[in-house]
Order: sequence, then structure tokens, then C-alpha cells
Amino acid sequence: MKTTHYFLALLLSVLLTSCATPQAYQGKPSYTNAQGEKFCSLHRQKLISVNGFAQSPEVCILPTDEYTAIAAAFPNHNSDLAEQKSELYTIPVKYSYCQACRDDLNKKLKD
Ligand SMILES: [Zn+2]
Repeated sequence: MKTTHYFLALLLSVLLTSCATPQAYQGKPSYTNAQGEKFCSLHRQKLISVNGFAQSPEVCILPTDEYTAIAAAFPNHNSDLAEQKSELYTIPVKYSYCQACRDDLNKKLKD
């Protein structure tokens, strides 16, 4: 009986932890190695550099507080930029992102 209670308490704590908003990433989001390549400080993966587009200043899309809180945990997702030009994304920019940050962000948003 005591073991069952302990197991249920442990299971509940794991479930609550997995649903919780992740902590905002603290510290420098990226670092550069001796060869000049940039890496994600969280995932230690090389950042992918692309030519993309930023939002047009004529469009204002504000993220929800929940999205902002979750996205703060993944320092190099740069999901607010797009690789394809569209009506919303019109300003050419070169940017970098971490695929693991994007994958983790998308996974957490689905939780
Ligand atoms: Zn990352």
C-alpha cells in the first residue's frame, strides 16, 4: 500500500513536470568555436544559417503570453522569421537557428 502511494506520487510529479512551462533559458544563447562556427549553447548543435524574411512592419502579430513563455526556453528557435517570402514576411534577413530548438519548441507547444 505504501509503495503504491509512493508510485502514484512519483507518477503525478512526472506528469505535472512534463506539462509545466519550461524555464526560460538563462545565459548566452550561442557560442563560436575556434573555426568561427556558431553553436547553440543549449543543444551544442551547429546553427543553421539561411536567407529568410522578417515580418513586414505594416503587420503586427503578437504572440500569446503562453507562447512567449515556452519559446523563451529555446534560445535559437528564431521561429518568428520565415524562410519563404509571403505577404506577412517581406523583409530579407540572414539569420541562424538551431533545429533542436525548433523541434523542442514545437514539441512543447503540442503538449
Ligand atoms: Zn538549440
